[in-house]
Amino acid sequence: MSEQDQVQLPEGEAAASLTDSSAYGRLLQESKELALLGSAMGVLGWDEQTYMPPGATSLRAQQVSLLARLTHERHTGSRYADLLMQAEEEHRSGTDADAAVNLKHWRRDFDRAVKLPAEFVEELSSTAVMSEHAWTQARRNNSFSVFEPYLGKIIELKQREVDYVGGPGAVAYDTLLDEYEPGMTAARLREIFSELRGELVKLVAAVRDSGRQAPRHLAWRTFPLRGQEAVAKRAAAAVGFDFSQGRLDVSAHPFCAFIGPGDTRMTTRYDEKDISNSFFSVLHETGHGLYDQGIPVEHFGTPLGDFVSLGIHESQSRTWENLVGRSEAFWQWMWPLFQKEFPEALKDVELADWMFAINNVEPSLIRTESDEVTYNLHIILRFELEQALLAGDLKPKDLPGEWNSAMEAMLGVTPDSDANGCLQDIHWSGGGIGYFPTYTLGNLIGAQLFEAAQDQLGDLQGDFARGDFSRLLGWLREQIHTQGKRYTAEELVKRSTGKPLSADPLLRHLHKKVERYYGS
Ligand code: ZN
Repeated sequence: MSEQDQVQLPEGEAAASLTDSSAYGRLLQESKELALLGSAMGVLGWDEQTYMPPGATSLRAQQVSLLARLTHERHTGSRYADLLMQAEEEHRSGTDADAAVNLKHWRRDFDRAVKLPAEFVEELSSTAVMSEHAWTQARRNNSFSVFEPYLGKIIELKQREVDYVGGPGAVAYDTLLDEYEPGMTAARLREIFSELRGELVKLVAAVRDSGRQAPRHLAWRTFPLRGQEAVAKRAAAAVGFDFSQGRLDVSAHPFCAFIGPGDTRMTTRYDEKDISNSFFSVLHETGHGLYDQGIPVEHFGTPLGDFVSLGIHESQSRTWENLVGRSEAFWQWMWPLFQKEFPEALKDVELADWMFAINNVEPSLIRTESDEVTYNLHIILRFELEQALLAGDLKPKDLPGEWNSAMEAMLGVTPDSDANGCLQDIHWSGGGIGYFPTYTLGNLIGAQLFEAAQDQLGDLQGDFARGDFSRLLGWLREQIHTQGKRYTAEELVKRSTGKPLSADPLLRHLHKKVERYYGS
C-alpha cells in the first residue's frame, strides 16, 4: 500500500491523539490503528471479490489470516487490557459522554475477543477464504458437493465459537446473532417474524387472486451495459453518494465495503437482459454507502465512528432501494433519463407500465432479485435452516433437499438447481450464520424511519420528483449516520420515530403497494 493510499485523519485529531498521554488517549490511538489493520483487510476482501485472479486464493488466505491474527493478538494482548482498565479508571466518574460510549463498546468487544484463541481466529478466517472460493466454484458449476465439506467445516467452527464466547446457558444462535445485531435474540425474531409471515402470506394470496401480472418483460429487453452503468451511477450520485470518495465495480454478489474515510467501495452485477438487477442493487448498495460516508470522520476507528448494527445498516439500503427507488415520485425524475439512455428498449413504454413492472410481486427463486413482499419469506426460510444447521438438526448434505421443500412450502416454487437454491448466497460460506435476519430487520426499521421522516419533513415526494433527495438524506444523516454507536439500534429507532420497533409501518407500506398495483 503506497503512502497516498493511507487513510488521512484530520490534522487536529491526529495531533491530539499523539500528544494525549492519558490511558484513554493512548487507547483511542490503539483503536484507530486496529481499525487501520481492519481497513487493510477490507481492501484485500474487496479485491478478492472483484479483481483477484483465482490462482491467488491460497496466498490471499495466508495474507488475511496473518492480518487477522496480528489484529487479534494486538486487540487481546496485555498492553490493550491494561490500557482499557486504566482508561476505565480515568473515566470512572462517567462525565465524559463520548468516552463513556467508546469505553462501553471497547469493553464489550474486548471481552468477546479474549474468549477466542488466536489459532481459532486464524483458522476461521483462512477457512472462510477457502470456503468462499469453493462456494464460487460450486455456484458456477451448480455442484453442491464442491461446497458441502466447507459448509460442514464452517458450521463446526461456528459451534466452537459459541462454546468459546457464549456464557453458561447461552442460546447458541443468540451468541452468533449478537455479533451482527447486538441485543437481538432468536426468540424476539421468531415473535416478529411469525406476525410478518402471516400478513405476507395473505398479501401473496391477494396478489395471486387479483389475476393481475406485472409487465416485467419491459425490464428484460436489451439494455446495453454501458448505459446501465451510467444510469446507476447517475442515480447513486443524485441521492448523495460521493464518487470522489468511493467506487462502483463488478462482483458475483453485490456488496458495499467501507474501507475508511474517503474510501467506500460498492459492487454490482450487470445483465444486459435485466436492468432491474443492476439498477436496484446499486441503489441498495448506495444506501449502505451513504451511511458509511455519513459517519463522522473525526471518530474513525472508534465506536462513535462505527455503524450501530447490520439491521440499521440495512435500513439505509432498503430506504433508497425500495421506499425511494420504487416510488412514483422518484421515477417522475428518473424516467426521462432512462428514455434518453435506452431509446430502443423504452420507446413504446408508458411510465405507468414501467412502475408496475418494477413493483412486481411474485414468488421467485432468488432472494436478491425478489420483490418487497416475498423477500422477507426468503429470509424467514434461511433463519429457520441456519438455526437447524447450527443445532445439528440439519446435516449439510441434506441442505439442498430441505431448502427445496421449504421453498415449496413457503413460496410455492421449487428451485430448478442448487445454484438457484441453497448455493445462491455467499453468507454461510464466509461464516455468516445469524446474519440473514438483519435484512428483514432492515426492512422493518427502514419503513419505520421513512414514515417518521415524511411525518416530520412534510412533502418528500415533491422533492424526489425534482431529483432532490437532500432533505431526506439530511434527516438520515442527523438521526442515524452521525450518531455512530452512541445509541443501540432500538434506542435509535425510538429516538428518531418516537415509537418502539414495530412491523406495522412495513406492513402498511406493503398493503398500500399491493392495493395500488393489484387492487381492484
Ligand atoms: Zn444490504
